[in-house]
Amino acid sequence: MKRICVIHYSEIGLKGLNRPFFEKMLVKNVRRLLSGIADSRVKRLQGRLVFPLNGADPNRVEESLMKVFGISWFAFATVAEPNVDSIGRTVVEDASRVVKPGEPVKVEVKRADKRFPATSLELSKTLGRMLVEKLGARVSLKNPSKKIYVEVLSREAYVFTEKKKGLGGLPVGSSGRVLSLLSGGIDSPIASYLMMKRGCEVSYLHFHPFHDNAEAENSKVMEIVRRLLPYSGETAVIFVPSYEFQIAAVNIPAKYDLILFRRFMFRVAERIAEAEGARALVTGESLAQVASQTLENMAAISSGLRIPVFRPLIAFDKEEIVNMAKKIGTYELSIKPYRDCCSILARHPETRAKPGVVKELEKQIDMESVVDRSLKLASKVIVK
Ligand code: ATP
Ligand code: MG
Repeated sequence: MKRICVIHYSEIGLKGLNRPFFEKMLVKNVRRLLSGIADSRVKRLQGRLVFPLNGADPNRVEESLMKVFGISWFAFATVAEPNVDSIGRTVVEDASRVVKPGEPVKVEVKRADKRFPATSLELSKTLGRMLVEKLGARVSLKNPSKKIYVEVLSREAYVFTEKKKGLGGLPVGSSGRVLSLLSGGIDSPIASYLMMKRGCEVSYLHFHPFHDNAEAENSKVMEIVRRLLPYSGETAVIFVPSYEFQIAAVNIPAKYDLILFRRFMFRVAERIAEAEGARALVTGESLAQVASQTLENMAAISSGLRIPVFRPLIAFDKEEIVNMAKKIGTYELSIKPYRDCCSILARHPETRAKPGVVKELEKQIDMESVVDRSLKLASKVIVK
């Protein structure tokens, strides 16, 4: 009895000419997560991915596959030969483990190879009859309590009794690279995760209040990046100290220091994104979550940038974000104490930043050269 895992993908099935490209990305990501756990000889086969289980622990395989974006669902299946006899025997044997006598069942057949002599409907009727005869089951098309699935391919057929729902989304690497501003708080890791879900490779940028980058490199920020690593794959984290800005900004009105600091972050981020080949910036901002995140402020903070800024959490409630963070496992790291740059800034920031004032203040501190000096202090760590 040969056991395999079959993986079905979501939207990538729809993308016509790009399909082989998406499939290859998905194969690469599945292989990365399976390494050391199961046979990573994953092959593309008639619109799905398949790999042999070879005795691998299904729980560990499942745990790994639950971290791959682009999977719609997957199943652990028994392989049969693509003929009615072999499929019938396998269906009865597999169903005997999960179906009780008298239980309403339904057999769902999909043919990837339409040359198979029976239609899907005919085959499912035949198989249903076998379950009635051999196991005393009852066929119910409307209200089955168990479903038995059969997929008929050209050279083999798969039989399984459970479909496991995957993460959906698109394979990481299929949509290009973005640079995520990562703070160490709850929101920005989730914003990064959601961009990965849409197929982006995510590099990170973190501003820290220390004198030395090494202190930030050994902080919980790296733990957060590592927690996201199964989803992201190899990535880079760039560290930049905030002291050049803080020295330059000592004399500006306290109400404006947060807005100027955020503009400083975006200006540095834009330059780093260009160097890293990232096409957009990502933040964990959410509309009106805190005083600084008003529409006026967001406009004032990102105006003048050459690069788009994505805010995937803009319309999420804090509770929804927290729930995602708990599910992914970043929450417990995000709530650990950490010296955030923003904690040294004003407690009551301006909520309606005026573009004219912002411009004047930037001239006063010579923002351009603050950005240049800070870029020289950046360090980069590769995480894999
Ligand atoms: P988070 O939970 O992500 O820290 P927040 O609710 O604390 O967000 P802010 O402090 O206003 O909100 O930060 C908004 C966004 O700005 C963050 O989500 C992050 O993308 C970016 N950001 C804030 N501080 C830093 C930092 N020190 N380094 C890099 N990015 C930062
Ligand atoms: Mg924060």
